[in-house]
Amino acid sequence: MRLPALALSVMLLVLPPGGSFTDDDGDTHEGGIEAIAGVGITAGCNPPANDRFCPDSSVTRGQMAAFISRARQLADSREDFFTDDSGDVFERSINKIAAAGITVGCNPPVNDRFCPDRPMTRGEMAAMMVRAFALPASRGDHFVDDDGSIFESAIDRVALAGVTVGCNPPVNDRFCPSALITRGQMATFLTRALGLAPNRPPALTVVSREGWGAVAPRLAEMTPHTIDRLTIHHAGTQTGVTGPGQIRGWQDWHMNGQGWPDLAYHIVVGVDGRIYEGRDPAFRGDTGTTYDTTGHLLVVVEGNFEVEQPTAAQLASLKSVLAWASERYDVTPNTISGHGDHAATLCPGRHLETLIHSGQLADDVQRLIDSGGVDLIWP
Ligand SMILES: [Zn+2]
Repeated sequence: MRLPALALSVMLLVLPPGGSFTDDDGDTHEGGIEAIAGVGITAGCNPPANDRFCPDSSVTRGQMAAFISRARQLADSREDFFTDDSGDVFERSINKIAAAGITVGCNPPVNDRFCPDRPMTRGEMAAMMVRAFALPASRGDHFVDDDGSIFESAIDRVALAGVTVGCNPPVNDRFCPSALITRGQMATFLTRALGLAPNRPPALTVVSREGWGAVAPRLAEMTPHTIDRLTIHHAGTQTGVTGPGQIRGWQDWHMNGQGWPDLAYHIVVGVDGRIYEGRDPAFRGDTGTTYDTTGHLLVVVEGNFEVEQPTAAQLASLKSVLAWASERYDVTPNTISGHGDHAATLCPGRHLETLIHSGQLADDVQRLIDSGGVDLIWP
């Protein structure tokens, strides 16, 4: 497909579990929503907080003007094209897309109005996308329900360009031209039109012990305690291998090699940022070094941070899990420390220790808490 002349600079942002918005977790369009948020096409639907995207709300013509003017990085226009958008938050965007020939107005043939508050249909969206991205004509007839629609040609063009696949998966022989377009759908369409990579954040859902195939702990050998601090470890082995099999391997080593009653740690952060449920935090953890683990919530991060850097996904998840734990156990982020602060060990490695000892990690965690906290879905 043809891409716009002005390509957006794309850097795949590493997102914390749950991503930028609280109301799209697990939504079909979440990867697209994050992709367009990452390049500044949307900030959210509830300014100034903007922690929501409203994926199921319909797209108004004014919002569409903003999406498209940002996606195309259009320049400001000095001309005031319409009489009904004065003072509207989208007026600048509306004039930009009018100057670029992407809209002519909402009341032909006069077309002195734009109707910024009116929701857009999927057919109208197709017409605007064709003009915005100069999508080439299609010889095929892609859908059965748009025959005779004034938007049929535009609809076939957006289908040919791969921007839309249809409205009735998996058959997808219909486009639903009269249905209102939702913000979630629009995010996906813009992602495809711009050739952006969908950026699905790690799930907020913590992988349960059942999920990674844990064996039962030897409860009789475990000691209850009350969490009063957050303590970070690294696994100490440099490995690209992660996932349930790896966690089962750690548990096997701890129970059958070290003789501990369960995995030593309460929470595991995988190489890819996935978060795993470890030992029940109601029981104190174990250590191969000499310190009393009573009161410590033990969080282990996979890797050897004496020699390698934690991945961005791991850091995002580590901060999320610490913010969540701080609230859940009512302990301040000021209690965050590393294993090496309590015993003679290189754990958790100098690259993590730098973040801990500079106070940066605690600051980042506090900021997450201050901005509404992190709702991990704990098993
Ligand atoms: Zn350690």
